Amino acid sequence: MEALKSKLFLGLLSLIFVNCSSIYQETDTVYDPSKYYDDNESYWSQFLPNPNPGINKNLEVDVAVIGGGYTGLSAAYHIKKSNPELKVVILEAKRVGNGASGRNGALVLAQTYSEGGFVMGENKKYHKEIYDITVASMRRLKALTESTGIDPGFVLNGQCLGIFNSDNIESSKEYVREAKKLGMPIEYWEKEKAISMLGSPGLLGAVYDPNGGMVNPGKLVAALKKLAEDVGVVIYENTQVWGYQEGEVITLPVYTNNNKYEIKAKNIVIAANAYAARTLNFLEDDIEPCHTQVAATEPLTIEQYNSIGWKNHISWYDDQYAGTDSDATFHMVITDDRRIIIGGGSVEYNEDEGLLYPGDIQKIQEQIEKRLGELYPSIKGIRIEKTWDGIICETKSKSERIGVTGRNKNIYYALGYNGGQGVNTSFLFGEVVSKLFNGEDHFLLNIYNN
Ligand SMILES: Cc1cc2nc3c(=O)[nH]c(=O)nc-3n(C[C@H](O)[C@H](O)[C@H](O)COP(=O)(O)OP(=O)(O)OC[C@H]3O[C@@H](n4cnc5c(N)ncnc54)[C@H](O)[C@@H]3O)c2cc1C
Repeated sequence: MEALKSKLFLGLLSLIFVNCSSIYQETDTVYDPSKYYDDNESYWSQFLPNPNPGINKNLEVDVAVIGGGYTGLSAAYHIKKSNPELKVVILEAKRVGNGASGRNGALVLAQTYSEGGFVMGENKKYHKEIYDITVASMRRLKALTESTGIDPGFVLNGQCLGIFNSDNIESSKEYVREAKKLGMPIEYWEKEKAISMLGSPGLLGAVYDPNGGMVNPGKLVAALKKLAEDVGVVIYENTQVWGYQEGEVITLPVYTNNNKYEIKAKNIVIAANAYAARTLNFLEDDIEPCHTQVAATEPLTIEQYNSIGWKNHISWYDDQYAGTDSDATFHMVITDDRRIIIGGGSVEYNEDEGLLYPGDIQKIQEQIEKRLGELYPSIKGIRIEKTWDGIICETKSKSERIGVTGRNKNIYYALGYNGGQGVNTSFLFGEVVSKLFNGEDHFLLNIYNN
């Protein structure tokens, strides 16, 4: 998201491109999971699947996927599906969906981070190709997960950037002109249309992408878990990997309830998001764990819902405070039971060794309440039922990170979706890392394999 990007602009000043020499074999910290993993207390946690038991023996496997978010579930599913003879396991520290995948703002957006937010980004010569790939992946994710019998609640009626800052009108119109020239279906909505669709009376215009929308993140995790298990992936939850030792066969020390076991894996896939920098010492020179928060209101009454005039469950985010010191962008969706899920407003780099949020959630909730009242004055003061924190994986290189590394080229990784597009791109990058594993090509590998 553009505003999020500008908020994080300072990160660019210390831009450091890293290479594989920054990958260490073992963590140098003492095992203490309580410093890194908190419980998922988000509104979505009620929709997560029941956790599987932790590991209780030493194991030998072909592929061990570390992390049970969208990336890990997708990578394991795609690898096992294309190699049914291989033994593929997922090792998840808490429960699948305990990280960002089970806590996010529920917006489903096209594009990768670098090309997202309705700007022609660093890879602009591939802007349309990346758009098409991410849109196709979003549709495939919907179809695949719905085929499990668990409905993840996709509503793909489009997504918008709502413009409140007049400085952004011309550049947004220019973007839409460029996108149209490339054959993309992006529209510019003048003030009247923007207000009639999104309802917020202060809008000056909007950029609309018909490809995008929302999902129930917890149910999406549940459907992806079922998909992976149905093809034979074995998932161990409450199982923390604590570093790894390189080799033709990689050794993983793992813990369940403080009992230590050892996994010997011919290959590993690091799908541990920003946690990877702390719990595996992986890409720690590039990864910057960032805290951001989301809140869920109580359900709006029918009258309140009608009063705000937000149509078609279009997901959207604003630009009001883009580039200012005081705030970042706010993003929102409205659920089928009429709750507004609104997040953003604060993105803070994690300065500690651990990963728990040191800030004041109550203060964040007050900021969100204030902004919600500005956006929809007719429901000012609506009760927020829950506000929660989560960790996004920013990278100093401002790029997604996907590739294979290690002396034996058996350490695969996919992470670093930065702010904004991760719901869709994490599933896609899970698939792309499986292509890399299979020795196949993929358009995105030519851009992001780093
Ligand atoms: C608050 C918030 C709001 C967001 N809103 C949106 C949004 O609206 N739209 C959007 O597109 N994106 C959004 N994102 C980003 C998106 O959710 C993420 O990019 C995406 O979920 C990343 O998936 P992942 O599987 O890579 O990581 P995660 O879901 O974080 O999964 C990583 C998993 O690895 C596990 N793990 C870590 N270390 C170890 C270890 N050593 N051993 C075992 N397991 C380990 C963790 O417990 C975790 O479950 C948001 C993120 C946050 C935090």
